[in-house]
Amino acid sequence: MEFSNYCFDTLCVQGSPEAKSVDLSGAISVPLVQSATFAHPGLGESTGYDYSRLSNPTRKFLEETVAALDGAKFGFAFSCGMAAETAFFSMLESKSHIISSDDIYGGSLRLFNTIVKKQGIETTFVDTSSLEQIEKAFRPDTKIVFIETPGNPVMTVTDIKKTAELAHSHGALLVVDNTFLTAYYQKPLALGADVVIQSGTKFLAGHNDVLAGFVTTNNEKIAEDMAFITKTTGSMLAPFDSWLTIRGIKTLTVRLEKQSENAAKLAQYLKTEKLVKKVLYIGLPETPGHEIHKSQASGFGSMISIYLDSSKTVERFLRKIRIFRYAESLGGVESLATYPLTQTHSEIPEEKRRQKGITDTLVRLSVGIENFEDLKNDIKQALED
Ligand SMILES: *Cc1c(COP(=O)(O)O)cnc(C)c1O
Repeated sequence: MEFSNYCFDTLCVQGSPEAKSVDLSGAISVPLVQSATFAHPGLGESTGYDYSRLSNPTRKFLEETVAALDGAKFGFAFSCGMAAETAFFSMLESKSHIISSDDIYGGSLRLFNTIVKKQGIETTFVDTSSLEQIEKAFRPDTKIVFIETPGNPVMTVTDIKKTAELAHSHGALLVVDNTFLTAYYQKPLALGADVVIQSGTKFLAGHNDVLAGFVTTNNEKIAEDMAFITKTTGSMLAPFDSWLTIRGIKTLTVRLEKQSENAAKLAQYLKTEKLVKKVLYIGLPETPGHEIHKSQASGFGSMISIYLDSSKTVERFLRKIRIFRYAESLGGVESLATYPLTQTHSEIPEEKRRQKGITDTLVRLSVGIENFEDLKNDIKQALED
């Protein structure tokens, strides 16, 4: 597959030009090829498709599109973000070592601490905003450095380019979870990362109605492994979910722009609320990592973490919000509020949680595309006694 010359927003709407072969009828909406298997014209002949676990035209269109968005030669779509991560890490040999950010999605942490550990692979968690800490964690058997930037839920920013150089100088690969921004705002592969993993459930699909996950890379060996794993373990994305994700991506740029604009305004407003003790939004100059983030990303996204004055206020807030819904997820057009302590990050040991600032007063907001005044008023009334 060649790199496409389309601009990012055009790619989102039209899909990768190389993927056009799916479209036989002139249909404007990419055909949903809801078929498990494909007939061959004759012995030794093929349409290019055999069986949907290996490849499916609708999924292929999506994979080529996400690869093009990420600036990757190869893309693989999985049934969710965790399936993508699990597939990727299942290709690691036992007795290898991973260095991971300690400010990451709770599911990734669980994966490293259980399934990946059982494969005989150890993970060292470090604060990856410090290059020295990363450097210190390397061992001769370190194969992967895994980061999420900005991190989850306390927005730790990691320097992608410098971390890639560090990883490569130790013979390791840099893998970036880019779920919070997507390639519209941050392109890790262009900054030296080897692999991007993301949950398509969030900003990419964008409507809180489908789960999806992706691995993209320019590394041919990794692409071969991923194709083999998909074929062998079958955690790939179903045709209908691929179709929904293709439809969601069409509006990615307009959604992200509106969501980021709402979030930036909301962050400013939240700073004025007396019961909000601290606002973490990577677009605020006072949020640590703001400058590094600006140097490697073109937007700030729509994730805000806030510390309220007490857990009692949190309780009231989560019960009273009406437009924001108290639910575990992010990135969609609907605004959501998450309580990391009991939802996304419940499995982190208490001491580690406290050290990272995942306390009983921390609330994470994913800002949607609703009207800003409505969102602001919703938060205002939810904070009131
Ligand atoms: C949600 C999420 C995942 C996991 O994706 P699923 O689609 O829910 O399996 C991984 N990383 C981040 C940053 C996420 O927010």
